[in-house]
Amino acid sequence: MATPGAAAQQVHESAIEITRGNFKLAAERLGLDKDMQLLLSTPFRELRVEIPVRMDDGRLQVFIGYRVQHNGVRGPAKGGIRYHPNVDLDEVRALAAAMTWKTAVVNIPFGGAKGGVTCDPSQMSQKELEKMTRKFTSRIHLILGPYRDVPAPDVNTNAQTMTWLFDEYSSAHGYTPACCTGKPVDLGGSLGREQATGRGVSFMVREAAKDLGLELGKLRVCVQGFGNVGSNAALLIEQLGCKIVGISDVKGGVYSAKGLPVEEVLVHMKKTGSVVGFPGGESLTNEELLEADCDVLVPAALECVLHGGNAARVKARLIVEGANLPTTPSADEILHSKGVMVVPDILANAGGVTCSYFEWAQNLQQVFWEEAHVNSELDKIMVKAYRTVADRAKSEKVQLRTAAYEVAVERVARAEKLRGT
Ligand code: NAD
Repeated sequence: MATPGAAAQQVHESAIEITRGNFKLAAERLGLDKDMQLLLSTPFRELRVEIPVRMDDGRLQVFIGYRVQHNGVRGPAKGGIRYHPNVDLDEVRALAAAMTWKTAVVNIPFGGAKGGVTCDPSQMSQKELEKMTRKFTSRIHLILGPYRDVPAPDVNTNAQTMTWLFDEYSSAHGYTPACCTGKPVDLGGSLGREQATGRGVSFMVREAAKDLGLELGKLRVCVQGFGNVGSNAALLIEQLGCKIVGISDVKGGVYSAKGLPVEEVLVHMKKTGSVVGFPGGESLTNEELLEADCDVLVPAALECVLHGGNAARVKARLIVEGANLPTTPSADEILHSKGVMVVPDILANAGGVTCSYFEWAQNLQQVFWEEAHVNSELDKIMVKAYRTVADRAKSEKVQLRTAAYEVAVERVARAEKLRGT
């Protein structure tokens, strides 16, 4: 595994470069004028707050939190909240911009936002996490709301985090389930939301395999990251008939050419805290997993894991990006020259925000959908978006990523013009 320092440096340099580079390429190809390019590349609003928390041992710790709203011209800003030591303003900015393009590419009525707190949740108690989440919410609630900005879970946050946020927001504004998504089903969460990002990733594996003429039953898949996105993607890709041969988490990975039973790996992870040491597979590092022998690679952990230094050694012929911004521009170039098909993050992991849209709509209408309905609507939206992007890539002879950014930037620019910004 790369040293944490080196990884952090690379993340900070490149996450923002990735979104800026991809936007710029699409904007130039679309012939957007300079004013529109400036408007669309500038975040609408950025808030940085201090979050004082009395820790369990009596010490006062002051955390720093951010909420960036990149663009809200097509609807309320939408995006997750991340708890991680590497969170900083540039990372949140990059992720917020990616959300604007993601909501546009699947054509749901939202803009883009992201939030985060610089902290190490693995070293914090539930009580400390609750206090930090409530204080963070109380410091940013004025810019949130069902028609302003609607947060959701991201790395190291979950339905419990959203419950604290929802409760704190509702204390100030009255009962408002539509103020965030990814809530528990008992509190207005949507059936299917927990699995939705992974489910969307599995749909993209299915569709891309069809286009490439690959038989699902013969595909060997490696998944980096075994949290919400990675574990659900692995389970659902296995259900498509593919063989999951490699899985990793922050502590390392496990590989078996014969295939790993995903449910059993989940049980092992819940018991031991990691996939490492799963019997019936050999150990490997996160770096090795990315380069392991497989047909499909699903990066589902953090950004910038595929870079100029390792892309040439990737063996997969299809990459479906579960994580946000996992591929740097130099890696993109190398993968393209090797003929590797990359289903880009703004399309591949849009299942989560699409289901968040269903949750928000159900909350506003005070209705509840059956899970089968949620999953079939998700399938329809994801497949439609995939076809739009794949057809454009084919007709313009560009990569899927360029086509996806073109579709998204075009939609947002059109909305800006219509509203007369
Ligand atoms: P999570 O916290 O549930 O899981 C993260 C996983 O990544 C864990 O298994 C963790 O051990 C692993 N990990 C962390 N650091 C790692 C490292 N350096 N190397 C390898 N593995 C590492 O987070 P998540 O919600 O599953 O999010 C994962 C990615 O998917 C992020 O990029 C996130 O922005 C993106 N994403 C999440 C959602 C969602 O609905 N949760 C939606 C779209 C995109």
